[in-house]
Amino acid sequence: MVIIHQRIIKTLALAVLLAISIWSCTKEDPPLATTPRASTSALEIELSTLDNATRAMMQGFYWDVEPKGEWYNKIRTKLEDWKTTGIDRIWLPAPGKGQSGFNSMGYDPADYFDLGEFDQHGTVETRFGSRAELEALIDKAHDLDLEVIADIVIGHNSGGGRQVNPFRNGEEVFSLFNEANGNASGKFNRTNAHFHPNDIHDKDAGQDFFPETDLCHDQPYVREWLWEDETKSVAHFYSKVIGFDGWRFDYVKSFDPNVVKSWNAKTPGLFSVGENFDGNNDVLKTWVEASGSAAFDFACFYKLDEALDRHQDLTLLGSDMLHKTNPDKAVTFVANHDTEKDKNPDNRISAANKLLAYAYILTHDGYPTLFYSDYENSTFKPKLQTLVKIHNSLAKGSIEILEINPTEYIMKRAGEGTNPGLILYMNISNNATQRLINTNWNTKTLVDYARNSKRILTTNADGNVTIHAPAKSFSIWSTTK
Ligand code: ZN
Ligand code: ZN
Repeated sequence: MVIIHQRIIKTLALAVLLAISIWSCTKEDPPLATTPRASTSALEIELSTLDNATRAMMQGFYWDVEPKGEWYNKIRTKLEDWKTTGIDRIWLPAPGKGQSGFNSMGYDPADYFDLGEFDQHGTVETRFGSRAELEALIDKAHDLDLEVIADIVIGHNSGGGRQVNPFRNGEEVFSLFNEANGNASGKFNRTNAHFHPNDIHDKDAGQDFFPETDLCHDQPYVREWLWEDETKSVAHFYSKVIGFDGWRFDYVKSFDPNVVKSWNAKTPGLFSVGENFDGNNDVLKTWVEASGSAAFDFACFYKLDEALDRHQDLTLLGSDMLHKTNPDKAVTFVANHDTEKDKNPDNRISAANKLLAYAYILTHDGYPTLFYSDYENSTFKPKLQTLVKIHNSLAKGSIEILEINPTEYIMKRAGEGTNPGLILYMNISNNATQRLINTNWNTKTLVDYARNSKRILTTNADGNVTIHAPAKSFSIWSTTK
């Protein structure tokens, strides 16, 4: 009985061992006798010596940040770390007081000049803190040579007082903004004529966002207060008084691209990006060309979601995207405050595919954005730090797609001068894969700087080499010391 028992246990143990070894063969690199498996990091070139002068942006908030009133103080403690990671710019939330007061995420603007210092809408501080705390955050960012950009919400207003509107046949609407009605600063007081419809026209080139309080950017008074007057405008106050270094224009579909062009002409040299919420690259391309501003690459975002989540077909990465057609005007991202709270999985990239998506944007053209909640996630953080280091060094030179099929995407960046460039290998199949490719590197030793593969490879005299990618993962190959 005992012997039989032991035999059964032995057989079971053997089966388990066999299963594990088969599993590890398919999930990880297939074993290759000729490939040494020593640590590859010792072979890596120190990436800071290959600094290509590009950096990444941090979206410094998520939807409904907590704790309320402490956000500026909280992220102030993170700036050194972000700087060390290779960030050069931080996108802060819309700073003005909103109708929903202490709960407001800034997208229901009432008083553009109340950055947390007037008692109105139920609070002195905004959800993010006080004006003094914002200024302390910006001062510290500037000490670290980090730029900060303001979220600019100028399509519509909220939180005004009720008044009779002659342009709406005497209907009462909430279009009165003054010291006693939602605009305690007394700057940029507004009334019926500043919204649509008005004495000029019913609506402007964009679509109405809030029918009652859709700001009219053709009214000289509105233009003066928002950006044209060089002594009192919102643009002047935010950049010259508070110290913001640029703009993230919210929902630009609700007004003409000339508004952004005209605003930026009044604040020359400052960074600018628009949120044109559209996956069609033709729309993005037309907008960046008309406004002169950069735009978030929603085409890239939606294609990454389709390629990785929805259709699991990497050939979709061959589609048009803003970072391909207008690389200098493309701000790439894989998540933001809107996508991350969206209940529809088609509008966000799943956690399982986040790093693949980041590997894509951090090796291609475009100015990449890290989303706060992704970066401050302890599982992603070390991987994202590695990817940003790769972006800021090896991601240089012309781009060539070497292989594109439903489960594999291989891209080569040519590098430049002494910068060797890189080869990105994305693999979404359930098995480790390998592929023979041609590189610009002859008889060189290669390692995966993303550290997902432990292999050490050698190119032949013609630059040919078989590269590898683990299952549902990626590798980023380049030359060694
Ligand atoms: Zn108008
Ligand atoms: Zn998705």
